[in-house]
Amino acid sequence: MSFENLKLIEPILRALKTEGYTLPTPIQEKAIPIILEGRDLLGCAQTGTGKTAAFAIPILQMLYKENHSEREMKTIKSLILTPTRELAIQIGESFSAYGRHTGLRSKVIFGGVPQKSQTDALRLGVDILIATPGRLLDLMNQGYIHLQHVKLFVLDEADRMLDMGFINDVKKIITKLPLKKQTMLFSATMPQDIKKLSTTILVNPANVAVTPVASTVEIVEQSVYFVDKSNKKSLLIHLLKEKAILSALVFTRTKHGANKITEGLVKAGINAEAIHGNKSQGARQRALNNFKTKQTRVLVATDIAARGIDIEDLSHVINFEMSNVAETYVHRIGRTGRAGAGGTALSFCDAEEKEYLKDVNKLINKTISVIEDHPFPMKNFNVVKSDKEGNRKNPSGGRRGSSFSKERGNSRGRRTVRKF
Ligand code: AMP
Repeated sequence: MSFENLKLIEPILRALKTEGYTLPTPIQEKAIPIILEGRDLLGCAQTGTGKTAAFAIPILQMLYKENHSEREMKTIKSLILTPTRELAIQIGESFSAYGRHTGLRSKVIFGGVPQKSQTDALRLGVDILIATPGRLLDLMNQGYIHLQHVKLFVLDEADRMLDMGFINDVKKIITKLPLKKQTMLFSATMPQDIKKLSTTILVNPANVAVTPVASTVEIVEQSVYFVDKSNKKSLLIHLLKEKAILSALVFTRTKHGANKITEGLVKAGINAEAIHGNKSQGARQRALNNFKTKQTRVLVATDIAARGIDIEDLSHVINFEMSNVAETYVHRIGRTGRAGAGGTALSFCDAEEKEYLKDVNKLINKTISVIEDHPFPMKNFNVVKSDKEGNRKNPSGGRRGSSFSKERGNSRGRRTVRKF
């Protein structure tokens, strides 16, 4: 199936040619005709599948074909809500690229930067607004944004909105949209809350699912190192020095952790930068661009900063810590192996994170292979738990402690059990 078969208009076909797209991806093939028909859509797809174009192309086409009165030309006719600034910027770039011959105006707004340039652009009139929820609500409350003319609404990365605690903001925004509109909801996973939300905002939607979460995992080679927390940095430096790792995105749980790891890497002579929510928008974009253009070899990121970022030819994802949410593991490793290309994901798991690894294995329905031969084998097999007062104590046969004792390494620190 070609883009021409999808009945796309010439200005868009021309732009896609410039982008170098020859064939639609599966989500585009499925979603574009449905959206062009005017139907609501529930799309189960991750970033990397081409989902942005799957909604951006039909939105541009529909708005281009409409005849807008002078007054309408100044109003926001399509709203795209997305959880992070990086995603908003990427979506904005996609609308500009695919819509370059349509004359339609799109604008991206997000928090963490002064609002003036955003409000100036809004005053001039915008057809398509791409926004993160916080800044959008803020500008709505200040009277800069009115959504009563929105006809096409996209809720992108809905599961992530939920994880990041934006769902109430999203619900508030939805109440300001006209009842009669076309809605597209995209989510990589479909937790119960998102299913529930979808039933309230979608009317007779068509369901489109591509690359279910677990199958992304097939193309990425995955392994795990059991290592004590205190040795993780040394193991990371060792791997980056020893292994043929061309580029690595290292995930860590906290902003402070990202800074500390980056400092350690730089001290060890490894070219690294950090990206997280405490950095200014400019610093984040610079770090991301340096990484994308291969000027930086290692980017250390928190999940929020890395969500959805699209990096070509990323060879390795390294999970410095296991996430306590199994789906996050899939999102993280999905940064490599984009567009069907292979990639490698390495995870560092300490005693306390073993339960998280178990959850991941269950979600992806396979057991991640364990690399036993490394210079920092796990020595501390005790899970330290906190009691209610926050005091750390060893469990006496608690779930984590007891399951782990079965897998004690031998005297050389080698593991005797591979699966659990
Ligand atoms: P997304 O899932 O929207 O984040 O897109 C992932 C990447 O695929 C982006 O770099 C897009 O530019 C690229 N892409 C989207 N559609 C196509 C296509 N039909 N052919 C080639 N690349 C595409």
